[in-house]
Parts: sequence; C-alpha cells; structure tokens
Amino acid sequence: MNIIRCNRCILPATYPDLRLNGEGVCHLCLMPPETRPAPEELKKRLDEIIAVHRGKGKYEALVGLSGGKDSSYVAYYLRREYGLKMLGINFDNGYSSDYAVRNLTALVDAYGIDLVVLRPAQTFLKKLFAHFLRTHGEFCSVCNNMGYLLMASYSLSQQRALGYTPLGVGGWSKKYEFQPGISVTSMQYFFKNLTPELFAELIAQPFIEEKAVRAYMNVRDPRQVKINSNEHTALGDSVISLIQLPDYVPWDLFRMPGILRAEFGWEQPSGRHDSHFDCTLFPIKEYLKFKKYGLTQETIKNSILIREGLLTREKALERIKMEQTTEPESLHPFLRELGVDPQEVNEEGEWSR
Ligand SMILES: [Zn+2]
Repeated sequence: MNIIRCNRCILPATYPDLRLNGEGVCHLCLMPPETRPAPEELKKRLDEIIAVHRGKGKYEALVGLSGGKDSSYVAYYLRREYGLKMLGINFDNGYSSDYAVRNLTALVDAYGIDLVVLRPAQTFLKKLFAHFLRTHGEFCSVCNNMGYLLMASYSLSQQRALGYTPLGVGGWSKKYEFQPGISVTSMQYFFKNLTPELFAELIAQPFIEEKAVRAYMNVRDPRQVKINSNEHTALGDSVISLIQLPDYVPWDLFRMPGILRAEFGWEQPSGRHDSHFDCTLFPIKEYLKFKKYGLTQETIKNSILIREGLLTREKALERIKMEQTTEPESLHPFLRELGVDPQEVNEEGEWSR
C-alpha cells in the first residue's frame, strides 16, 4: 500500500482531519508545542494533592494496575517519592498477556501492595465486545470505559471498609496516548451506543454501582477529568478523585523499562514494539485501526516522539515495520469466541462518533 505521509512526523494523510501543506508537512507539526508549567511547579501541585490524601484511610491511593509499563511506573513513583500505601486494582478482561500477569505479580510482591482483581463475567464482556464490533468495528471502548466504571464502583461500595474515598492515580499520558478523531475512550460514546438491554445488564452486574455509572455517564473522556474541573465536580464525592501522574511528572518512555527492570524484574517482549503488550487483543485492535485509518496507535506515538525531537524520521519509519498491519492469527479465534461472523464487523462505522 502506498501511503502518503507527513514529511516530518510520518502521520499518514488518512488520519482523520489531517491537513498537509504545500511542502507536505501536517498541521500538527506546524502547531506551537503545548506549554506546560515548569516541572517544579507541577511537582508542587502534586505534593499538595498527595498531602490532602495522606494518612486519611487504610489506603492513600488507588492505582489501576495492568502489568504494563505506565501503571507499573505509577506504583514505582508513588512508592519511591511519597511512600504511599496503595491499593492496586486490576481490571481483568480475560485477555491479559502472560507478561502482564508476571509483571503485575512481581510488582505487588516487591512493594507489598494489596491487590484486588475485578473480573466481570466473560459472557457479559463478550456481549459488549461483539456489540461494538458489529456497530462500530472496534471493541476497545469496552475496556476503556469498564475499567473506570469498575474502579469507581469498587471504591464507592467499599467506602466504609476503606475509611474514605482514596485518590485514584492513573498513568495515562495525554501527550502519547490521546488520538483525537479516532479515540474510543469517551463515556458519552460508550453509553450513547449501548442498547437499552445492554445498559440494563451493565447496571445489574454485581461489581457495578448504578450511582457510579450515572455519575460517569456524561463524562467525555474519563481519563481527562481533571481534578478541580467542572466535570470532576459534577461527578460528586461519591466517586474517586482521579489524577493522571504524567500530568505532573516527566514521562520518559525510553527510560521507564530499565528502571522497572532494575526495581522488580519487569519484562517486556523482545523484537516487537513495546506498547500495550499487557492485552493479547492489542494486535487485533491495531490491525482494525490500520485497516480503517491507515495507521496504528504506534504510528501516532512515533509521530509525537519525532515532534519532541526524541526520535528521527528514519528511526520511526524503521519502527513502523513492527506494527500490526496484517491480519493477526488471533483475529478469527477471537471473533468465533464472541459469536461474531467476520462479515458482521462494521468496517464503515466511525470510531469515536
Ligand atoms: Zn506531521
């Protein structure tokens, strides 16, 4: 396939709403870099947030742990920098990779973290995956949103046992992970496209609190609800206060694996790109995205690293070869498990709409 790419950052012309100028440079490369307060100022803000939550209940922070790089780094940082008492919450969608399970176990053992694994009935999750594949040609919106609904529900239902509502800390980096136009993280998108039957089934799930669901239903992207924002206030004090650590501290993707390896023997697969190997469905998602938009999440991440001066164009084009652009062997078995015929996957459906 001959792909027209931005001459600078390698984003393909098929990326929704991308505009290339006469020199073949995209509008994202021409935008001024996002300004951020000075690192010391951000660290001060983080110190203040932590101070509010310190010593309040049995746990000072809830951390969603997947066994992947970012969430592991959150636990490492909170322990090293603040010595926080953390409760780990793992949302098990039934497709965690062996790497993820080993990393998760090594992490909680090394730091003495209590871990709660939330694993909703597979029959229900599979119904949701099948529904979104049939209507929108994607399935990641299910976990993107269920993870937050389960964590908020757990925190709410355990308020008495936990002593108070702890601070939730995530490792989602807007800079590297946000994909405007093709993002499937919005709660509004998720709920707007659920059938009434599936909604009723969601509310009836034993781990789900309807009050938490109702609070989150109108949130755009749960990962971007900033503490002290109107959206956050609207959630009320019944659900967790959530911050994303990359909003406050430097997020160096290239240094993290070495730090985590030295800390507790963290591992990642070799000979392939290093993103999201915590979920065995990731290659399917990348393939579906490539088929529809001519790019993967890795392409987007690489394009950002180029703009930041952390990766050369040549190196990025080399890294692109590791992306999942062909049909993964796991696709058909996955569809069979869901009872979805390959013909039923809606390839016309726009993601995030
Ligand atoms: Zn560009």
